[in-house]
Amino acid sequence: MKRFYQTWDCPECGKKENEEQFCSECGAKAPNRILKFCQKCQKKATPDEKFCQDCGQKLSTIQIHDNYIKFDPSIEHINMISRELFAAKTLDEAFECVDKYNSDKRFSHKDWRLPTLEELGFIYQISKILPDLLANHTIFWSSTEESTEKNKTKPLVADFLFCFLGESQDKEIPNNVILIR
Ligand SMILES: [Zn+2]
Ligand SMILES: [Zn+2]
Repeated sequence: MKRFYQTWDCPECGKKENEEQFCSECGAKAPNRILKFCQKCQKKATPDEKFCQDCGQKLSTIQIHDNYIKFDPSIEHINMISRELFAAKTLDEAFECVDKYNSDKRFSHKDWRLPTLEELGFIYQISKILPDLLANHTIFWSSTEESTEKNKTKPLVADFLFCFLGESQDKEIPNNVILIR
């Protein structure tokens, strides 16, 4: 069996420093690829680098799996991004996708949610080093709302085509959905 080129922490059971293709504790599959990423410069580094050569920041690890992307705890707020994208969903349908993920305990977790606007901004940065992440989809629902008139809120979307974070949108308009936890 081909030995994995570096150790990996199991995203399913948390076992540290697996060395083979499958977790010795729970049998989960190793990531396809591991990237290092500087949160400050938003630059990709090679897997064996520990600190950013441009700014000295400790690099974060990104595990690329078939169905999801997993970050190390140095990346705040987001721990996993599902690579399954949902197209043309109203906001209610977007929340149904979230509920379905949680009731199915997708990838062993039940705290899936829509990203906030800020988190979508981060996902956009990540998509620059992982170009297939957004699969040419451009407008995504966020969980962030803006208040309009008295007691009324409008959901906000991120439009990556025009690099615009925070356009308010009617919740009946179909947009894309990406799920995180
Ligand atoms: Zn495991
Ligand atoms: Zn840097």
